[in-house]
Amino acid sequence: MINKLAIIGTGLIGGSLAQALRKADYASEIIGYGRHPENLQRAVDLGILDIGAVSVSQAVADADMIVLSVPVAAMKELFIEIAKSVPTNAVLTDVGSIKQSIISDASAALGSQFENYVPGHPIAGAELSGAEASYAELFADHRVVLTPVEETSRTAVDKVSAMWVAAGAQVVEMDANSHDEVFAACSHAPHILAYALVDSLVRGDDHETIFSFAAGGFRDFTRIASSDPVMWRDICTGNRDAITRVLKQYRSDLDRIINLIAEGDAAELEEIFKRAKHARDTYMLNKLPSR
Ligand code: NAP
Repeated sequence: MINKLAIIGTGLIGGSLAQALRKADYASEIIGYGRHPENLQRAVDLGILDIGAVSVSQAVADADMIVLSVPVAAMKELFIEIAKSVPTNAVLTDVGSIKQSIISDASAALGSQFENYVPGHPIAGAELSGAEASYAELFADHRVVLTPVEETSRTAVDKVSAMWVAAGAQVVEMDANSHDEVFAACSHAPHILAYALVDSLVRGDDHETIFSFAAGGFRDFTRIASSDPVMWRDICTGNRDAITRVLKQYRSDLDRIINLIAEGDAAELEEIFKRAKHARDTYMLNKLPSR
C-alpha cells in the first residue's frame, strides 16, 4: 500500500482508476485536482476522492504516485506546474491516448525527475465523460500499454505496473512510436470516421428523416461519435502524421469501392466484403471491446 495517490483530472479515466484503487486498498489517501471545484466536490461526494485539492502543488505534495488524467493537450502545462513541487521520490504516470508528444512535453518540463515518469495508456474507456461516468471495474481484464523510454527508471515502471495490476488490468510494454502507429489505425481513425459520417449526414436537408430511420447498424458504427470532442481534437493534433497516413490509405481504398459500386462490379465488391468479414471474424469475435 502507498501513502498518497494524486490524480490530476478526475473524470472518466481518473475517477475510475481512483475507484478501482480504493477497492484494492492501494493508497491510504486519494487526492484529486481539476479546474472546477464543483467537479472535485462531486467526486468527493461520490466517494471517489478523499480530498479535492485547490492547487497542483497541494495535490502533489508528499505524493508517492501522481497520475495525469486530463485531455492530452492539457498535459504540457500540468507537467510544468507539477515540476515545481513534485517530491523527489514520487513516481509520475499518465493515461493519455497518444504517447510521443506527451513524452516530449514531460521530457521538456520534468528535468531530472523525467526518469520517474512512466508513459501509459489504458485500453479501456467509453464515449462518456466526467466523474459521474466513472466506475471501479472499467479496467478489469483490459490491457494497459506502458511506453517507457531509455531514461525511464525500471523501479518506476514496476511501481506503475503494480498500480495497474491492483486496478485489475494487464500491463504490456511497447515503444511509443509503435503505440502511436497502432492506435492511429485501430482507435483514432475509427473515431474520426464516425464523427465524419454523422457530421456529413447532419448537414443534409433530409437529416431528420435519415436519423429517424437509423437503427442498429448506424448506432453501432456511430456510437463513438458521442465521445468528448476536446479529447479527440487533442488526439488528432497530437498524432497528426500517423493518423494522416491511415486516413489517406483509407480514402484511397474508399475511392476504389466507390468506383466499383458506380461500375456495378458485384464480384469485386463481394471479394472485398468477404475479406473484411473474414478478418473481423478472425481477429475480433470473442475479444473484449477495446479502445
Ligand atoms: P474526462 O472524463 O473529460 O476527464 C478529464 C478530467 O480532466 C476532468 O476531471 C477535468 O476536470 C480535468 N481537466 C481537464 N482539463 C484540465 C486542465 N487543464 N487542468 C486540470 N484538469 C483538467 O476525460 P477522460 O475520458 O477521463 O480522458 C482523460 C485522459 O484519458 C485523456 O488524456 C484521454 O486521452 C485518456 N483516455 C481516455 C479514454 C476514454 O475512453 N475516455 C480511454 C483511454 C485513455 P475539470 O473540467 O474540472 O478541470
